[in-house]
Amino acid sequence: MKVHAVISRAIDELTVEDVELEAPRAGEALVRIHAAGVCHSDLHTYRGELRTTPPVVLGHEGAGIVEAVGPGVTRVKPGDRVMINWLPSCLECPSCLAGRPTLCERFPATTIQSLMPDGTMRHTTQDGLKLKPYLSSATMAEYAVIHQNGLVPIPDDVHFAVAAVIGCAVMTGVGAVLNTAQIAPGSAAVVIGCGGVGLSALLGCVLAGCDPLIAVDVVPSKLDFARELGASHTINGREEDVIKRLRDITRIGPDYAFDSVGAAVTIKQALMGVRAGGTAVVMGMHSLKEEVPISAAALIAQNKRLLGCFAGQSRPLVDLPKLISLYRSGKLPVDKLISHRYALDEAQQAFADLEAGKTARGVLMLD
Ligand SMILES: [Zn+2]
Ligand SMILES: [Zn+2]
Repeated sequence: MKVHAVISRAIDELTVEDVELEAPRAGEALVRIHAAGVCHSDLHTYRGELRTTPPVVLGHEGAGIVEAVGPGVTRVKPGDRVMINWLPSCLECPSCLAGRPTLCERFPATTIQSLMPDGTMRHTTQDGLKLKPYLSSATMAEYAVIHQNGLVPIPDDVHFAVAAVIGCAVMTGVGAVLNTAQIAPGSAAVVIGCGGVGLSALLGCVLAGCDPLIAVDVVPSKLDFARELGASHTINGREEDVIKRLRDITRIGPDYAFDSVGAAVTIKQALMGVRAGGTAVVMGMHSLKEEVPISAAALIAQNKRLLGCFAGQSRPLVDLPKLISLYRSGKLPVDKLISHRYALDEAQQAFADLEAGKTARGVLMLD
């Protein structure tokens, strides 16, 4: 079928065009997409900075309605409202069976390479160019073909835009706080970088009762946003000495630091910023090329912990419904993260705003 989609034909190129999408195969569903989140990973990908390189159909945050299913689909049926889980794990390998589905052994050869779980591509441009489905999802399109393990039903009262953002930014940020750090209530915490993932971590820290709760960014409007979401203090990383300010606020440094940027400078800030015995969690992906010189003395002599966190160390099929439930009960106001909405044809603008640091979270709306 023909679908309107946001694609990147080559590094640094972004277009919105009609492409051909194959019908769902066994275990897969066709989803009419209503909302697709605009994530830094999509941006880094079409810039050629992550594992997947163009040509690719972008988008991995999304929500919509199941339109049709292939043979053997049991988890969803046509008409179901669903959110996309961009980590459709096999549920059979040793990692999945051990409760670590984000580390599914099928991912390195499929999802992380932006192929379907069976290793294939399904989109073709009008002039015959084969396109990868970004992270087995390709949600920036009118329709997406998704493996049933990449779909989670959502209640009628949850807006598609909210569900889309919960599927990546919120799962990652809140998961870093609850799953990776397993933060103790009342801890002092700092979140570095106030984009979608960082602000989600901030909401996770609010949920966990952190005090003080400090936000760091270089864009003043993002720091204002962080305050609205519950930060007690903010630091402008461009104008202020972050480590010194953290000491001013907490005396010995916060118990936990969450870095959502993934750059060498912010990872070092997180590690050097936390108190002796504190924990720094790295949850953002900046570039595969990033190398970080780490102080062995800080790790050993100061007994610090530096933890990597992929996709919030989540079990998406369990955690996504839980995050939806926390949103519905008002404990996780993730709707406040959505600062900008765009039409699919405005994808260029959406990425330009993201790159310029104007958005908390932008969402492409296909209603
Ligand atoms: Zn994402
Ligand atoms: Zn697996």
